[in-house]
Amino acid sequence: MQGRLRLASLSIVWFRLDLRLADQPALAAALARGDALLPVFILSPEEEAEWPPGAASNWWLHHSLAALDASLRERGSRLILRRGPSCGTLLELAQETGANAIYWSRRYEPAVVARDTQIKAALRAAGLAASSFNGNLLVEPWEIHNQSGRPFQVFTPFWKQVLRSSVPTAPLATPVLLPTPATWPSSDELTNLGLLPRSAWHSQMARTWQPGEAGAARQLTEFTGSALHDYAAGRDLPARPGTSRLSPHLHFGELSPRQIWHAVAAAARARGIAADVWRGSQYLAELGWREFGHHLLHHFPRTPLEPLRSEFTRFPWRECPQQLQAWQTGRTGVPLVDAGMRELWATGWMHNRVRMVVASFLVKNLRLPWQSGARWFWDTLVDADLASNTLGWQWCAGCGADAAPYFRVFNPVTQGERFDPLGAYVRRWVPELANVDNKFIHAPWLLSQPPPRYPSPIVDLKTSREAALLAWKGMRASSGDT
Ligand code: FAD
Repeated sequence: MQGRLRLASLSIVWFRLDLRLADQPALAAALARGDALLPVFILSPEEEAEWPPGAASNWWLHHSLAALDASLRERGSRLILRRGPSCGTLLELAQETGANAIYWSRRYEPAVVARDTQIKAALRAAGLAASSFNGNLLVEPWEIHNQSGRPFQVFTPFWKQVLRSSVPTAPLATPVLLPTPATWPSSDELTNLGLLPRSAWHSQMARTWQPGEAGAARQLTEFTGSALHDYAAGRDLPARPGTSRLSPHLHFGELSPRQIWHAVAAAARARGIAADVWRGSQYLAELGWREFGHHLLHHFPRTPLEPLRSEFTRFPWRECPQQLQAWQTGRTGVPLVDAGMRELWATGWMHNRVRMVVASFLVKNLRLPWQSGARWFWDTLVDADLASNTLGWQWCAGCGADAAPYFRVFNPVTQGERFDPLGAYVRRWVPELANVDNKFIHAPWLLSQPPPRYPSPIVDLKTSREAALLAWKGMRASSGDT
């Protein structure tokens, strides 16, 4: 296993959000050239413009890099760590080691795309071969368009087109042995990259997740062997492990959507489920929303900060730092909202149904800007992803593509009664309510003696909903759209 192959010519494989060895087209292309390989990761958060990775993402990244290095070492190789700037570092490494080609998987965040375009040009100008690959999407954003030749803005036709246009090919195998350079360049120590938080806030995250490719594969196997088959019913119940929890693994590229697609196909075939049934399944459609988010981010690159529907620039958002803080810390007095925000803080993840409820509460009941919510999620989610987070927040605020209409205000009490009927999720995350009767678990303020350590609601759900709808009507009237 540890036998080393040493070859004359050297290629750099530049790992970014594709921290895996299986189904890795950039790695496969470099191997196909027959070169020795230099696996490299360059830390350069300042190159991500307004969106450098947040604290939870950095925690994940630290562990994912450690896992990737361990897998590389099992194959006789290792991961060279450097700090940015990326372009200068790649040129330096090429000069230091004599590498003459650089391979990577494409990313889709607007600032990163601009940077990568410049890097490719600079590398080629320096006489190096530079090639990028699709390692993370079923369909890249520019590959499909609607019947008028424009970007899609509605999910269903987008997804139908994806399903029509591509059958993902089989995932690429994991290489057994990786040819190494004759001498290794120096590497930074992982612990010196400063990715781990100083406080021990992440202890529960460590108990919840296994970052890295092996953790992703384990999670996929567990999911396809159980919850996948009841996904349509189970995915809306936050107290149950009814979803795949693959989102951080997907964000960091520890597995590819193509691997998931084929795992779902295999699980379906094993149960005799017809191809058109599993291809049309709710679970694959959720992967489709991830694709849709990337499509939108590419075609509407300003949407992480600006509403896609421009009339929303006139929406009368409020400012209230105290209410924002109550929302962030899970102290709004509304149980389902507080449970979600506390789950997020403790684990770096929140169930999708609850993400919709907490987002609706922020942008409608509190009428605070969706960008404030998106920022908080960006810092605290382990799956923080510019495409999906932007899509999710603009959807909830009613200002994005195929969004929930603004007048659809989620009621956290009825949502709780429907999707957490026994209050198990709320009790898990809001221990102050552990002994409250099921009847009042989602509205403890109705008790004659509410639990003393739990806050009263910071807004009245009915009057704040009415105020939100009035504000929305005012915005529409001022846009001449009534
Ligand atoms: P599953 O239900 O198992 O779905 C499988 C995969 O499909 C997910 O891992 C994810 O990659 C993708 N997916 C599922 N739902 C969506 C969706 N609505 N939009 C885009 N992709 C989806 N997802 C992120 O990955 N990163 C984010 O930063 C993010 N921010 C969000 C913010 C808001 C306000 C909302 C409402 C949703 C957000 N989502 C985000 C989408 C969704 O909540 C998560 O992808 C999902 O909860 C992850 O859990 P899972 O892996 O168990 O999902």
